[in-house]
Amino acid sequence: MRTILHADLNSCYASVECAVHPEYRGVPLAVGGEKELRHGIILAKNEEAKKMGVKTGEAIWQAQQKCPHLVVVPPHFELYKEYCDKARSIYLQYSDMVESFGPDECWLDVTGSRNLFGDGEKIAHIIRNRIKTELDITVSVGVSWNKVFAKFGSDYKKPDAVTVITEENYRDIVWPCPVSDLLFVGPATTRRLHNGGIYTIGDIAQSGLQHMHNALGKNGIALFYAASGQDCSPVKKYYEAEPIKSVGNSTTPPRDLRNLQDARLVLYSLSDTVAKRLRTYGLACTGVQIHLRDTNLFTLERQKQFDRPVVTSYEICNAGLALLNAHWNFQTPLRSIGIRGINLVPAPKTMQMSLFTEERRIQNKQVLEVTAEKIRDRYGKESICRAVILSDAVLGQVNKASVQPIPFAAAMHREQREEFRRQELCTKV
Ligand SMILES: [Mg+2]
Repeated sequence: MRTILHADLNSCYASVECAVHPEYRGVPLAVGGEKELRHGIILAKNEEAKKMGVKTGEAIWQAQQKCPHLVVVPPHFELYKEYCDKARSIYLQYSDMVESFGPDECWLDVTGSRNLFGDGEKIAHIIRNRIKTELDITVSVGVSWNKVFAKFGSDYKKPDAVTVITEENYRDIVWPCPVSDLLFVGPATTRRLHNGGIYTIGDIAQSGLQHMHNALGKNGIALFYAASGQDCSPVKKYYEAEPIKSVGNSTTPPRDLRNLQDARLVLYSLSDTVAKRLRTYGLACTGVQIHLRDTNLFTLERQKQFDRPVVTSYEICNAGLALLNAHWNFQTPLRSIGIRGINLVPAPKTMQMSLFTEERRIQNKQVLEVTAEKIRDRYGKESICRAVILSDAVLGQVNKASVQPIPFAAAMHREQREEFRRQELCTKV
């Protein structure tokens, strides 16, 4: 029988803020989007704020009504990523089968490590203690023989807790819980199950495979196996994580975009972050896609291919503008806009020379962009920007907004993962 752990950092964003700023400890605290940018919602909260009724996703002003002394801090995604990476490197000391599930959750298959470190519960407590003492944040860990029940276990008791779901206790612990507590059962599936008179996880298991198939098709079969402890999906080795298919960024700017000039301003900022992330992950894109949503919430996506791999913000932004020019006439203003690099490939070590592109110009742009990035990394996001961004005080704000980074494992491209595997094999030999 396998031994699988699911480790979930508790209120990750808020806990990291409290670890970095001890003065916030014991005080109700929330991480919130910047108020003046129409992103004024609660992204995360700590236990104290939760006790006062603060909910993730509600407006900051609503939360402050319930909890007048709520401390609201802006998000620091790079910092949270650093903590998640550190936690993952602790997990990797107990198994190479570590699969990320969102930025702050991982499954670990520790079956092969039991002789070294003890049973699943023992390993879970070692990890729980290390996260607490080394990172000053807490984790809850579920232990079971399959991924679904391990995930259930990490949700069952938190913070700073271990829950073991065994073949002996799962009928008593898991089965009485509502169907929505089961992995992958969202609001729509919950409604369908309720309509069929199925309310608890035990109901799913006891209604049988055939019944679940009739009720929900293929999805029903998966739910039956999940609820009855027969999920046998493997935990991926961490370098086997799905390669990323695209790198994008989008925003709902502080005001609607009324013309191409408005859009250009925002696209510059978005393309800068896309190019930066491509470079960070050693990737290049061979196409660009834009995503538009107008003030009537009508959405449109259009894409365009390049004749070679591209990594500069300059080219990504120009392709986006060309698409915009061709497909949007601004009779209706845009409420939000996004741009992504698609059809990713590993970044070429040397640039392909082409007679038909402004090669020299692009290489210079690339040097300029990398230099500007270094300055920003060192002196802050606002230390250097395009002059055009300063021309509009409201839309220029987009430049300041934080970007959510992609977790490390998910960002590795297949060839990078193979390189990692080769290195690992070499060290084993
Ligand atoms: Mg969490």
